[in-house]
Amino acid sequence: SSTAKILDGKALAEQIQTQLRQEIEQLQPQIGRPPGLAVVMVGDNPASAAYVRNKERSCAHVGIASLGKHLPSTTSQTELAELIQSLNQNETVDGILVQLPLPAGLDADSLLQTIAPEKDADGLHPINLGHLVRGEPGLRSCTPAGVMRLLEHEKIEIAGKHAVVVGRSILVGKPVALMLLEANATVTIAHSRSPNLAEITRSADILVAAVGRPQMITQDMVKPQAVVIDVGINRITDDSGKSRLVGDVDFENVRRVAEYITPVPGGIGPMTVAMLLENTVLSYKNRHQV
Ligand code: NDP
Repeated sequence: SSTAKILDGKALAEQIQTQLRQEIEQLQPQIGRPPGLAVVMVGDNPASAAYVRNKERSCAHVGIASLGKHLPSTTSQTELAELIQSLNQNETVDGILVQLPLPAGLDADSLLQTIAPEKDADGLHPINLGHLVRGEPGLRSCTPAGVMRLLEHEKIEIAGKHAVVVGRSILVGKPVALMLLEANATVTIAHSRSPNLAEITRSADILVAAVGRPQMITQDMVKPQAVVIDVGINRITDDSGKSRLVGDVDFENVRRVAEYITPVPGGIGPMTVAMLLENTVLSYKNRHQV
């Protein structure tokens, strides 16, 4: 029997990085400095530290200066807000992102609101989320933008299709649903209070899983020939006692029925980083009106 076509996010992300590197090479002499991205990390959550290292490596690869700060978990809300203010005012910083989650006791929402909206590389400031709701230009959140870019690159038809998004977080579920709506899909958002989840997902032409539950989307929940986008990144210990990353989709079985599927790792994860770099370059260009 046939199996689904794999949507190779890693390959597309590399292609985007190559284009960004060339664009930066061209712009830098004109602007007089490279683009700068400040990744603010607090504490030492190992998953966050790995994501931050990965983002900084990608910055170096395309020629974006990493101007990040790694702060101890004892950092106060006031100190963090002051750091954000100084990054807002720093002319060499084009993008600012706060790596989430923050240690207990720190309020991420109020901090995200102190980021200058034009430097909001993660697109999570209420102003940028508002632009998304209104269908206006603005910095878009990276993971949802990565999902859309991958679909567009593969020329997967969205208009008129039924898209089902499982998950409604501000980070992923809600913005990806809005972007699919903007692309003229008919959109359903399912979540932990949706009864008959399998019935809903089975009606999806495009299914986006952004839940954080390992392999919860099983083959019987997927319509034959559906496009399956797996945003989840979950660490599990498999039967042989080895630790590995899996998505929210039961990849090995779902690939037997889907037409397209994203792998984990190598799907939406690298696309997210590529969109972060792209947002930083967009802000660099906007701030210098080039
Ligand atoms: P959240 O925990 O913030 O949101 C999870 C969502 O899933 C919630 O809306 C929740 O519903 C819903 N949900 C939970 N259980 C069920 C269930 N049994 N049935 C249906 N819906 C359910 O997670 P995030 O959105 O931040 O992340 C989701 C996943 O994506 C995680 O695995 C995360 O690691 C990954 N991720 C990957 C990124 C990437 O770069 N690829 C970037 C960001 C996240 P309710 O609202 O009702 O509680």
